[in-house]
Amino acid sequence: MDKLKLEIVTPRGSAFSGEVDEVFMAKGGMGEFGVLAGHAPLLTTLRIGAFITKTDGKPSYYFVGAGFAEVNQQGMVVLADSAERAEDIDVNRAMAAKQRAEALLAKKDSEDFAHVQSALDRAMERIRIAEEHGRK
Ligand code: ATP
Repeated sequence: MDKLKLEIVTPRGSAFSGEVDEVFMAKGGMGEFGVLAGHAPLLTTLRIGAFITKTDGKPSYYFVGAGFAEVNQQGMVVLADSAERAEDIDVNRAMAAKQRAEALLAKKDSEDFAHVQSALDRAMERIRIAEEHGRK
C-alpha cells in the first residue's frame, strides 16, 4: 500500500510527522472523510474532534482542535490549534476545563460565548477520545 506523508502542526510545534497508510477525520468541514495516498488535492477546515491514522492495520487516535487540512501531491498537512494523541490526554485537566466552561456558560452573561463554547467542545471531545481510545 502506498504511504501518505502526514504532518500535524500546531502553534507549539509538530504533533506528528511521518508516513501512514490512511487518515480518517470525524469532523472535517465537509463531514466525515478519509484520505489515502494519491488523494485528489483538497483544502478543508477541521472542526474540534477525533483524527485517526492507520498504519499497517494499526489505528492511532488523536484529538485535534480547530484548524485546516490540506492534501496535495506531497501528502497531507494539518494545521490545528492543538493536537494530542489519545494516550497523552490529561483527563483531569479536561474535566477542569469543562467545569470552568460550564460555569461561565451558566452565568449567561459571558461576553465571548463562542470562545467559551469552543473551550467546552474541546474539553468534551478530549474526555470522550481519552475514555474510548486513551489506554496505553
Ligand atoms: P486548558 O484550559 O486546559 O488549557 P484548552 O482547551 O484551552 O485547555 P488548548 O488551547 O486546546 O487548551 O491547548 C493548549 C495546549 O495544552 C496544547 O499544547 C494542548 O495540546 C495542551 N492541552 C490542553 N488540554 C490538554 C489535556 N487535557 N491533555 C493534554 N494536553 C492538553
